[in-house]
Amino acid sequence: MFIDSHAHLTCDPVYQEIDEILKRAEEGKVEKIINICTDKISLERGLALAKERSWIFNVGATTPHDVEKEGGLYFPLFEEAASTGKLVAVGETGLDYYYEHSPKELQQTFFSRYLQLATQCHLPVVIHCREAFDDLFEIAQNDFSKGRVLLHCFTGTMKEAETALERGWLISMSGIITFKRSEALREVAKEIPLNHLLIETDTPYLAPQSRRGKGMNEPSFISETAQMVADVKGIPLQEVAAATATNAREFFSLRD
Ligand SMILES: [Zn+2]
Repeated sequence: MFIDSHAHLTCDPVYQEIDEILKRAEEGKVEKIINICTDKISLERGLALAKERSWIFNVGATTPHDVEKEGGLYFPLFEEAASTGKLVAVGETGLDYYYEHSPKELQQTFFSRYLQLATQCHLPVVIHCREAFDDLFEIAQNDFSKGRVLLHCFTGTMKEAETALERGWLISMSGIITFKRSEALREVAKEIPLNHLLIETDTPYLAPQSRRGKGMNEPSFISETAQMVADVKGIPLQEVAAATATNAREFFSLRD
């Protein structure tokens, strides 16, 4: 059984097909899904969904892309949800200097605010980072040195992975690891100890190689990513499924 540690189930257009998508997830041996809420509507839908389905858990924050437009507006909503026990982590927050859809300084400001929120609420943090590891490590060192961190959809270098591991952080692999050109990332995944590894789909984005260009990604496709991790490590698929599920259960403190 798999745990998909990162899916945007309650964003559009995934939410319009949520019943079918969750049915296929169950058939595909996905036992739990971490739903990432990034705005008001996806948070409201996520909280309602988790009430109906005990195997769906919510994480929330404005993404680094959108902090300029929506950061101030939605922070109080995520603060309320986090402080009333409705979230299993704060995120995805972090820094994205590749797209830089919001100014760098503002991304840093909100990243710090979310780290402080996680500290207050004793929650772990799910981090998005692209081409910003120096600043990210520095801010986390200052504001969250004792906190639990998951680097989602990791695409960094071996050195960046090592720095994260030295801090005790967990690293999550998405469908990117299955892409033809991802040799370097596969080399990194091979070196990450199994007890620090999670897997995710990042639904509806980043469909794995066999599904690329054929529509939305969804949690039932997680097995392809798990299989690639198993192949690069030379271990059975079941071992990857079990270890990554255990890591996810511990990191997010998931109930059974
Ligand atoms: Zn995401």
